[in-house]
Formats: sequence, structure tokens, C-alpha cells
Amino acid sequence: MKVYGPYTRKDGRQHVIIHENGKRKTVSYPKYLLETKLGRSLLPHETCDHIDNDHTNNSLDNLQVLTRSDNSKKQMAFKPAEKAYFVCPECNKSFYKSMRYVRHNNITQKKAGPFCSRACAGRYSQRLAKTYRGGKPNPRYSGNTPE
Ligand SMILES: [Zn+2]
Repeated sequence: MKVYGPYTRKDGRQHVIIHENGKRKTVSYPKYLLETKLGRSLLPHETCDHIDNDHTNNSLDNLQVLTRSDNSKKQMAFKPAEKAYFVCPECNKSFYKSMRYVRHNNITQKKAGPFCSRACAGRYSQRLAKTYRGGKPNPRYSGNTPE
């Protein structure tokens, strides 16, 4: 068996080319490192995970075996950290909010928002409901309007 590489692609990910029994195969470098460390091949339900989520950091300390389901749980847990800056359309307060929540919010609120709080979202939808009723006082409406 002969191993060539690692070769680095434009996106920073690395791979090696393995020649064995007259066959040639390309294997991701971190997977190759992990399999060499373990002394066995990864099983079909196992993935090579970068602990810090940096796919170019192929230090052995940064590599671990995760099952596919654990890996997707980790990616889910990692995503809410993605936050963006918004101004609340109800009270004009600025705030940070998870992008994941915002995408969901934009669908349910039909692009109104995101709001800084449930209270603002509530006031906004109550005012919309009031407007929809032709300006007649909505008995459920008790908030202050900036109008
Ligand atoms: Zn607000």
C-alpha cells in the first residue's frame, strides 16, 4: 500500500490518494488520519468529525469519531449560534437574534419581524387585527400604539 498526499483543495479540505492492490482511491485526509489512529476503517454509520467544526484543522486532537446521528445533533446545536443584528419594527430597539429562529419567524409572520420580544410580536399582530377590523376597537387589544 502506498499513500500519496495529502493534497489540499481550493476550499482548504485535504485528501490522500491510496494505491493498494493495483487500485487507486481518494480518501479524505482527516478520515485517513483517524482510521490510522484507530487501526481500523470507519463503519458506515460513523463519520470523522472536526471537534472545532473547522474542516481545514486536521490536527489529530481535533478529530473524533461520531455516529451520523450524533454528528447531525452537533450541527443542529452549532447553528443557533449564528446570530444577526435586527431592529424591532414595533419598538425600534436593536437586538441580536438567531438566524434559525428568524427564518421560521418570517414564514409564520409573513415577513413581519423579527421582533425583539414576544410582547412586541403580540402588539404588532394585535394592531394588525385591529386594522383588519376597520379600526373598530378590538376588545382583546390593550397595548399602547405608537400611531
Ligand atoms: Zn420590540
